[in-house]
This record gives sequence, structure tokens and C-alpha cells, in this order.
Amino acid sequence: MNDQPLVTKVNAALLEILRSKPLVSIVCPCYNEETVLPLYYEAMQKAVFSQLADYDFELILINDGSKDKTLSILRELAKADERVRYISFSRNFGKEAAMYAGLKHAMGDFICVMDVDLQDPPEMIVQMLERLKSEECDCVATRRVTRKGEPKIRSAFARAFYRIINKISDTEFVDGARDFRMMRRCVVDAVLELGEYHRFSKGIFMWVGFDTVWLEYENIERAAGETKWSFWKLVRYAIEGIVSFSIAPLQIATAIGSVVSALALIYMVIRVVIALIWGNPVAGYPSLLAIMLTLGGFVLLALGIIGEYVARTYMQVKQRPIYIQKESNIKK
Ligand code: UDP
Ligand code: MG
Repeated sequence: MNDQPLVTKVNAALLEILRSKPLVSIVCPCYNEETVLPLYYEAMQKAVFSQLADYDFELILINDGSKDKTLSILRELAKADERVRYISFSRNFGKEAAMYAGLKHAMGDFICVMDVDLQDPPEMIVQMLERLKSEECDCVATRRVTRKGEPKIRSAFARAFYRIINKISDTEFVDGARDFRMMRRCVVDAVLELGEYHRFSKGIFMWVGFDTVWLEYENIERAAGETKWSFWKLVRYAIEGIVSFSIAPLQIATAIGSVVSALALIYMVIRVVIALIWGNPVAGYPSLLAIMLTLGGFVLLALGIIGEYVARTYMQVKQRPIYIQKESNIKK
């Protein structure tokens, strides 16, 4: 240390003064959130910014191609508060792309991802930072312990999804896990290294590993506005998760194909033997039709499964950007 030139020492000291407080980045994707954005900002101000004087904050809000006044609200917030940074996409790229953009631009030592609709309570950020500081963990994640207020059918499908994916994937998926989490810089750097086009963050966060502490909380309903997830969007999301983190569907198709082929072979031998001994008394159209339809159906299903993987390979090979930025107040 003492052998360092004076300039280096002064530079280090200056940097230390400039960055005496750790920086916390809060990444928050917004899509048509004009009603809830002002409420969110107010809640953050009250529960986080004014409570934690030992930290500096940057609030990175991503406008994911909203069609309402979200962008103009973001511009106003950024004008009024220098902690607010925003990125606006050229169209709707989805929450996953928005989170990726936010993480990419986050400069913090600690980085938090949360929804804007106040379903992720801002008060928990205080707790998360305490846990990160006191315990030697790299990440504080959250999970909902109840699904109160959620449609029954949605909860049932969500549970089935977690049961299936945990059986067929090596990555562990926690039931009720939210994207709401606070991570150290090293975790975010690892997450950003996964440049896949089809992003499934719940899986990516688990895949990168690191020591994670889980906080639990009860489901909270949206403060205003409405959910962007239709039932079919959620089904697509579940398929995305399975295909991104497991090749078991392909292996299942192979297994069923092998069993069916073996049975077909045995059946053929039996038919030949019967024909040799007793002749061929019945034409057997119904059984032929049934077997053809079953096999045809299975072949189409297997093709569909292969197609899901091929499509993702195709999209990845094209190397299209995950999002396109149209406007931002972040200087690079
Ligand atoms: N969101 C987004 N792009 C989308 C859909 C959603 O950025 O295409 C954001 C949305 O603004 C919110 C978060 O993702 O901050 C979660 O969305 P939502 O509350 O609709 O989902 P839910 O809580 O119902 O699962
Ligand atoms: Mg929500």
C-alpha cells in the first residue's frame, strides 16, 4: 500500500470520499402504469429514500412501450429528482427484456428488482439491505406464501407448473418466488452474462447460484391499474420456463416413441403369426384407423415439442437485440 505513488493514493482517497455511501440501484419495469407510478414513487420516497440515509439511490424505471402517459410521468420524475433514471423502449418487449435493460444500466453495489404496482412492498427494501449487510449472503429474494386474491384456476396452474418443472429441471424453482429481490453486484454481473434472447428470470436467478436468503410475505393486491398477464400469456410463460430450463420434454418424446415402436413391432409379429396359423379372416379397419390416429397424434406432438426448441435456437442464432432503446436520460 505504502509503495503506491502519491497520485494513486490521492485518487483512491478522492474516490472514497465521492463514493462514501454504497449505491443501491432499484430496477423497475413499467408498462401502462400511469395510475400507479406516482403512488409508487411516493411510497418509495417515504419507505426507502427518506429512511436510509446511509445509502445513495438510483431508481431505474423502464418504460416497456407503454401506450398511456407512463413516459411523460417518467420524464417529469427525472426532471424533479436526479436519482430517477429512465429508459424507454421503442415498443413493448416484455417484462423480462425490461428487467434485463435495467440490470444492464444499474451501477449500484446492491441492485434490487421490483414491480411498480406496489405488490412488492417498498418497506422490505430496508430489511433486505440489513440482511445483505449483516449476513454473508449475496442475494435476498422473496416469495409469496399465500395466493390470496388470485383467481383459483391461476393458483392451481401455478402450483402444477412448479411441481412439473422441479421434477424435470436441474435448476430449483421455488413456489411463489417473486422477481422482487436484492442482489450484490457479483450476482447481477453473472445474470448479465447469460445473454439468452428468451429470458426466464426466475430460472436465471436460480441458475447462477450464490447464497440466497428467502423472505416470505403475504400476497398483496395491486395498488391501481390492472395486471398485464392474461391466462394464455401465463401459459406461454410456463412453457418458456420449461423449455428454457429442461430438455426433458424431448427425452419424454423419445421415450414414448421407443415404447410405441416396440409395442408396434410385437403387435406386428403377433399378427403375422396369427395370419400364418389361422389365415387372415378379418380386414381390421377400425383397429388400423385407431392405431394410425394415435401414432399420427403422437408424431405431431413430438414435432411440436421439437419445434419449440428449434424456434428458440433460431431466435438465438439470429442474435437480435433483447430490446431497442428509443429514449433515456442515462448518459453512457
Ligand atoms: N410489465 C412490463 N412489461 C409487460 C408486462 C408487465 O414491464 O409487458 C411490468 C408491469 O408494469 C409491472 C410488472 O411488470 O411493473 C408486473 O406486471 P403485472 O403487475 O401486470 O403482473 P402480475 O403482478 O399480475 O404478475
Ligand atoms: Mg403485479
